[in-house]
Amino acid sequence: MADNDTVREIRINPIVPAESVLIATARGMRPKKEEDRAPRDTREHVETCPFCRGNEDKTPPAIATYPEVDDWSIRIVENLYPVLGDDRQQNSVLSFGLQQTMDGYGRHEVIIDNDKHGIAVHDMSEDHLALLLGAYRTRMEELYNSDDRLRYVLVFKNFGPAAGASIPHTHSQIIAMPVTPQNVLDEVVNSKQFYDKQHHCIFCSLIDEALTFEATIYDKNSGEVRRKINVGQFVVERGERFIAIKPFASRYEWEVHILPVQHQADFLGATEEDLEDFARVLKRTMQRLDAVLGGAQYNFFLHSLPHDPDHVGCEASYHWHLEICPRTSIPTGFELGSGLFVNTVSPEEAAAELRNVSID
Ligand SMILES: [Zn+2]
Ligand SMILES: [Zn+2]
Ligand SMILES: [Zn+2]
Repeated sequence: MADNDTVREIRINPIVPAESVLIATARGMRPKKEEDRAPRDTREHVETCPFCRGNEDKTPPAIATYPEVDDWSIRIVENLYPVLGDDRQQNSVLSFGLQQTMDGYGRHEVIIDNDKHGIAVHDMSEDHLALLLGAYRTRMEELYNSDDRLRYVLVFKNFGPAAGASIPHTHSQIIAMPVTPQNVLDEVVNSKQFYDKQHHCIFCSLIDEALTFEATIYDKNSGEVRRKINVGQFVVERGERFIAIKPFASRYEWEVHILPVQHQADFLGATEEDLEDFARVLKRTMQRLDAVLGGAQYNFFLHSLPHDPDHVGCEASYHWHLEICPRTSIPTGFELGSGLFVNTVSPEEAAAELRNVSID
């Protein structure tokens, strides 16, 4: 066995086994980039920025604003460069032998998260974050109701150039699509299989484990203790209704997931009280990431039950969550070629660092 502070093992993602991760913490493998501090635009107002207050005429008209008065703090507009367009055409799947194409039907909108240009999520107030999460929920619901061809509404945020954010003003995006994305589908299908066998939601099981479980692994032959796993060590932050967990098989060094503690399949089911606690756990988790990473650049995205007739019956087995993936290294040829992500910080070490960093 390797000495205590190095781990080198392939961990199987319990929800999507095909997404395995090589955890390799030998110091020589640490990418240098991890220690770099990310440069960030922290200005409050930028005269030439189309998303700043006073420049509303530089974007398409608002679909919604919060609060609903002139001095908005959240504003939703159409994306000027949509990935998917509202072409109002028939949604059809065209087959050419083995290759299938589908019309790029859908909607792509931008949520200007805050009127303050360069404010980070961890600097937004809990009230503001609850309002923002409520805006996500309301807009998702409106989009699902607007067209029954829409199967999935993806809400995500890119923050920082390393995470692909092309406009520095803080914003999130909503893409409504006619198909369920493959990674969500993998989660939905695999968690249903687990449910059919175990009669229990796998996400709830992982939360229960994180909160209570301590495991000891014995050597099969000698009976000696090979390793003790204190599963509670994966908890990063705990609220009344939400928990932030470092996944055991994290693809990214500082990846953290936030889930409702009580089973809930669809984000649209979240109540105002849920969103208040979610906002608090999100803010504290982002504060921790920022404190440890010194200016985190990240992607976060919501995974929620698809509104897809093929997945009726997955309400008991699927559990919505927010995945936060800070970008600290660039995928290598090995990772892209093998599909096996390499994580150079052990998830238990990362969780301990995030949990112990002082944020108040
Ligand atoms: Zn701006
Ligand atoms: Zn559950
Ligand atoms: Zn997910």
